[in-house]
Amino acid sequence: MFWADRIAGEALARFGAGSILIRDEKTPSGRVHVGSMRGVAIHGAITESLVRAGATPTFTYEFNDMDPMDGFPEYLPESFKQYMGMPLRAVPSPDGTAANFAEYFAQEFKEVINHAGFTPTFYNVSELYFSGKMDDAIRTALEHAADIRRIYKEVSGSQKPDDWYPLAVICEKCGKVGTTRVFAWDGNEVSYTCEPKMVKWAEGCGHTGNVSPFGGKAKFPFKVEWPAKWKVLGVQVEGAGKDHSTKGGARDVAAHIAKEVFGYEAPQDAPYEFFLVAGKKMSSSKGRGSSAKEISELVPPKIFRLALLGKEINQAINFDPEGDTIPVLYDQYDKLAEQYKTVTDDDYARLFEMIHPKEVVVPTGSLPRFSQVAFVVQMPHMDLHAEFPDADKAELDERASYAKRWLEAYAPEKFVFKLQESLPSLSLTPAQKGNMAALADLMESGSPSAEDIHTKLHETKEFKTIYQLFLNKDSGPKAGWFLASLPREFVIQRLREASN
Ligand SMILES: [Zn+2]
Repeated sequence: MFWADRIAGEALARFGAGSILIRDEKTPSGRVHVGSMRGVAIHGAITESLVRAGATPTFTYEFNDMDPMDGFPEYLPESFKQYMGMPLRAVPSPDGTAANFAEYFAQEFKEVINHAGFTPTFYNVSELYFSGKMDDAIRTALEHAADIRRIYKEVSGSQKPDDWYPLAVICEKCGKVGTTRVFAWDGNEVSYTCEPKMVKWAEGCGHTGNVSPFGGKAKFPFKVEWPAKWKVLGVQVEGAGKDHSTKGGARDVAAHIAKEVFGYEAPQDAPYEFFLVAGKKMSSSKGRGSSAKEISELVPPKIFRLALLGKEINQAINFDPEGDTIPVLYDQYDKLAEQYKTVTDDDYARLFEMIHPKEVVVPTGSLPRFSQVAFVVQMPHMDLHAEFPDADKAELDERASYAKRWLEAYAPEKFVFKLQESLPSLSLTPAQKGNMAALADLMESGSPSAEDIHTKLHETKEFKTIYQLFLNKDSGPKAGWFLASLPREFVIQRLREASN
């Protein structure tokens, strides 16, 4: 069974076919790495699968704008260093176009999410805090601080001091949230100090004070906020990346706090592997070239969805724009499309359906391989539509446009070809010269087909010589097809020059 249908089936068994709340989140601490799209895609696909099964799920996606700025993206001006430790919603937008820093980067990511055909309901976590919806959970957590300290220790081995409380106040003096330590709670107010040296990435102002922790004046640490939000929102399905899903990891701690402190059973889990770019899980602070926006623009939405949904969730995805990834995804798409014409009830068919968020589009004509299209767009004398007369026209044009973009920015050397205007310097053996002369004779004898040329080349195994003569490379596209598509006089002249 297709993985999204299997997970949806488990949700239906646990919650029934009514409304099911599915949640995912991201802290918009900078340009969002494409890896975060995996969570979006998994939760989005489960939602779509539940709709298909007759349920009425809601997919809600949070931007955590209360988290402190705790890393410094290298593309920001130095002047932003003063904001380290402040809630992201209190940091200005980098170019002044958005309400704040969090909104700025969330907006870019929302556009990628929607472009890929996923339509969650977005919210900012600050809405939960400022509206007072988190207040009961804050009171409960403060009252059960000792239980939370015990759970941290038992589940993750993390030892907190006896005066540690699971809350971070926004300092009334300097506005930072990443630097404050709460050390007492009297049932109405918490006492805190804004510590100059508690964290390496920000410096607190030293202020000590008492403040009511409610209504947006404080926030939970991650491992307590997570279960608090499950309870407050009523989350039923929520997966997490494998970095959070180990035994004793954040998810494990959160599940214990949910049950033992908030009296809420943790949502159905769906732990998933990483989405890597060129084999690396790059941090968003160095993420130039691997942001969700940049990667999503390299392929049309259906191919992006295929990259995101085409693997079981426990398998890593590796997207390498400088490698074979894009041509391989296209080949996979072509195979799925072809099979869907006859088989519409297996896992491949389900995947093909899932990569189309609205209506399934089955191309009508033939599908020229992406690698071939990429070759043709580099050959000035070749006409795209003449080379692929049976192709689906819209699909062909789309492929050509994405191929050009890919070739300009990323494509590896083996896909880059330049027709050699003059004979490259080569030293051929007498036998090779003879073979080139024989091929020139064949070309002069009439208009041999690609098949005829291929047969002739196959007899002499001179494919590599052809690539060297015309492309100055050791490999290339199907040589018969390639020579047949070049102007005949040009081919004959080159073969004669080489055989002299
Ligand atoms: Zn302070």
